[in-house]
Amino acid sequence: MTLLLEHVTKRFGDFTAVDDLSLSVAEGMMHGFLGANGAGKTTTFRMVLGLLNANEGQITWNGKTISYETSPQIGYLPEERGLYPKMKVGDQLLFLGELRGMKKADAKKAMAHWLDRFEVPQYEHKKVEELSKGNQQKIQVIAALMHDPKLLILDEPFSGLDPVNVEMLKSAILDFRKNGATIVFSSHRMDHVEELCEQLSIVHKGKQIVNGNLKDVKRSFGRQN
Ligand code: ATP
Repeated sequence: MTLLLEHVTKRFGDFTAVDDLSLSVAEGMMHGFLGANGAGKTTTFRMVLGLLNANEGQITWNGKTISYETSPQIGYLPEERGLYPKMKVGDQLLFLGELRGMKKADAKKAMAHWLDRFEVPQYEHKKVEELSKGNQQKIQVIAALMHDPKLLILDEPFSGLDPVNVEMLKSAILDFRKNGATIVFSSHRMDHVEELCEQLSIVHKGKQIVNGNLKDVKRSFGRQN
């Protein structure tokens, strides 16, 4: 179940947003995708999920093209958060769980587990718009993982969260990971990647400047700790 990107390029008109990117993420690995604003992280994720076509190159998971819209095996936290503000958190999560192929009873169980794990069970009956942005983000992370995807793509999951919630999210992701899922997340911050990932890539203006095992990358930059 390897996620494989081979020489992937995306152009918007004559602007190249992703330029000949290759990487592979083996089953069960956590891969950090680092880059500044505009580096091409979201564009890459959208191509991985089949939401955007690459101009060149191939993206496969377990040898096949991915379609997020039709595969319940995929979980995705989009950078542009998209919860319905007027809907109650619980109704929203159950709706999204069912959309990802879950039976209602399983969705209810998973929702209760993750609301608890993220320390927000009290919000189940509140409208999304009544929650702080950080808590809305936690709800959206729950929506991405409650159906137990085998491949989880998180676009900047830590952005906008205070340090306490960053720690909570990290530990929840590590718990989720025990199910053996492959996880790729983007970030601006090396410390998040160092703490969670075995492997990473760094992209800059669409070009991949680093790709590999965390230990090897640190060694090549002269950092041993
Ligand atoms: P951020 O950290 O700010 O989210 P990112 O690494 O996710 O950045 P992308 O959103 O992938 O970066 O954008 C990469 C580049 O491609 C940017 O310069 C962006 O303006 C451009 N881009 C993205 N989508 C489009 C589009 N639909 N049309 C034209 N240009 C686009």
